[in-house]
Amino acid sequence: MRSTMQDAPLFIADLVDYGTTVHSDAQVTTWTGDGPRRSSLGEVGRRTAQLAHALRGLGVTGDQRVATFQWNNQEHLEAYLAVPAMGAVLHTLNIRLHGEQITYIADHAEDHVVIVDAALLPLFAPILPRMATVRHVIVAGGDPGELNVEGVQVHRYEDLLEGQPESFSWPAVDERDAAAMCYTSGTTGAPKGVAYSHRSIWLHSMQVCMTDGKGLKQSDNALAVVPMFHAMSWGLPYAALMVGASLLLPDRFMQPATLVDMIDAERPTIAAAVPTIWQGVAQELEAMPRDVSSLESVLVGGSACPPALMEMFEERYGIPILHAWGMTETSPLGSVAHPPAGTAGEQRWGYRLSQGRLPASVRGRLIDSDGSPVPHDGESVGELEVRGPWIAGSYYGDEDPDKFHDGWLRTGDVGTLTPDGFLYLTDRSKDVIKSGGEWISSVELENKVMAHPAVAEAAVIAVPDPKWDERPLVAVVLREENDATAEELRNFLSDRVARWQLPENWVFVAEVPKTSVGKFDKKALRSQHSSGELT
Ligand code: ADP
Repeated sequence: MRSTMQDAPLFIADLVDYGTTVHSDAQVTTWTGDGPRRSSLGEVGRRTAQLAHALRGLGVTGDQRVATFQWNNQEHLEAYLAVPAMGAVLHTLNIRLHGEQITYIADHAEDHVVIVDAALLPLFAPILPRMATVRHVIVAGGDPGELNVEGVQVHRYEDLLEGQPESFSWPAVDERDAAAMCYTSGTTGAPKGVAYSHRSIWLHSMQVCMTDGKGLKQSDNALAVVPMFHAMSWGLPYAALMVGASLLLPDRFMQPATLVDMIDAERPTIAAAVPTIWQGVAQELEAMPRDVSSLESVLVGGSACPPALMEMFEERYGIPILHAWGMTETSPLGSVAHPPAGTAGEQRWGYRLSQGRLPASVRGRLIDSDGSPVPHDGESVGELEVRGPWIAGSYYGDEDPDKFHDGWLRTGDVGTLTPDGFLYLTDRSKDVIKSGGEWISSVELENKVMAHPAVAEAAVIAVPDPKWDERPLVAVVLREENDATAEELRNFLSDRVARWQLPENWVFVAEVPKTSVGKFDKKALRSQHSSGELT
C-alpha cells in the first residue's frame, strides 16, 4: 500500500524563504577590522533575491557552478542562499590551498562565475588567468582594482545588486540535484568533489538542529569560526535559516586575539572550530583574560579533541566542549558526543571524549583488513564505513572505488564502536604507527603529551625504523617560557602508555605545520622529519 502522505520535496529555496521571512529579525553580524557590521536574515533575504537576479542577468542558468572565494561574511552567506535557490550549484573554493590545487578544482568543477572578497584579490588575481572555465568574476566588499583577464568580465558585487528586484520566483528543481559542492581539502590525497543535494542539505540541517545533534536553536547566536569553505561551515549557515538562529561571521579576523575580542563584544552562545583554533583561544585567554561566559557550548571536530583542552575549557571557563566527528563526505555532521543520561564522573568524561554517537540517519559499521565486519563490542578495531541520506555515495566526476564499498563510504578512520553506538577513533589509517607488528595510535600519544602543562601542541608521526619498521616521532611546541626536555616529557609519559609505545624520537618546533583547514599537517611533518631525529 502506498502512503497517503504528500510527497513534498526538500528545496533550499523553501529554507531561504522560510528563514528570511519568518525569522527576518535574526541577526547576521560580520566582523570588520573596526567592529561589527550588522544585518538581519530579512535583509539578507532581499539581497539574496537581488543576487539571484544579477546572476541570471549574467546568464547563469541550469546547474552552472557559481564558486566563492570568500571568508565567512554576509556576502558569502548571500551566495550560499541565492545560488542553490536559483537552481545553480554553489562551489566553495578553499582559499588556503595552493594556487595549482585551486585551479585544478575550479577547472574540474567547471566553475563559470567566481564571487571573490576584495581582500582576497592578491591571492586570487594570479590564479585567475589559469582558470579555464571562469567567465565572470564578482568582487565583493571593495573594488576590483586592476583585475583584467581576457575572456573574463569583472563586476562589483554592489553594482550588480543595485536596483534588482527584492524577491525571486525560485524555480522547481529535483531535490536530488546538486545544490552545493565542496572538495575535500586533500589532507591525504588529491582533492575530491562532493556534490550535496537539496535533500541532503535539508536533512543534514535538521540534524544540526536536533538536541542531540548540535542542538542549534532560535535563541542562539552562532559564531561560525569554521570557514564557509571547509565542509559548508559544518552546516551552520543552512541550519541557522531552519531555526532562525543569529550568525556571527568573523570574516578574515580568525586570529585568537580577535576571536576572543569578538566573543567578549558580541556574546555568541555557541561557536564551532577545529581544536587548533581553541588551543590558540585558550592561550590568548591565559595571556589576557576576557569575558567568554556567553558561550554555552563549543563544537569541536575535524580532528580529535585533546582531553586537556576539553578539561581546561570546562574547569577554567565553565564552557562545555561538544566533540563531534565528520568529514566533507558526510556533509559533515556524523556523530556527536552527548553522554547518555545517568552517566557521571569518569564514565561521563569517557563518553564526552569519544567521537560521539552516530544518529539514526547515519549507519556505521567496522570492517577489518579482509573486508569482513568487526563486532561493535567496544574492543574490536576496524575501519569505519558509513551510509545515510547525507553521506556521499560517489565523488563528482571521479571514480574512486577504493573509497566506496557496497554502497558504504569508507572513511579511512580506524577505531571501535560500542553496542550503544559510540564511536572511539584511534587514528586515521594513514597515521597509525605500525611498530613491530603492533599498532600505536598517534592521536592517543598526542593527547597524552598535550596533557603535560608545558606543552602547547604535540603532533605524532611514524618514522622508519630498521628494527621495528616504524616508531613514533613527537613534534612538540612548548608553551611560552617553558623549557621541558624530551627526557622530562618521556618520563611524564612513562606511566601513561605501555613501555613499548614510549617514543624515543622528539623534536621541539616553533609551530606544528597546519593544513588549509587548520589541522595538524602530518604529510608536511613527515616530509620534514622522514628520517627521525633525537633531540
Ligand atoms: P580532510 O580529509 O581533507 O582533512 P575533512 O575535514 O573532510 O578534510 O576531514 C575528515 C577527517 O577528519 C575524518 O575522516 C577524520 O579523520 C578527521 N576527524 C574529523 N572529526 C574528528 C574527530 N572528532 N576526531 C578524530 N578525527 C576527526
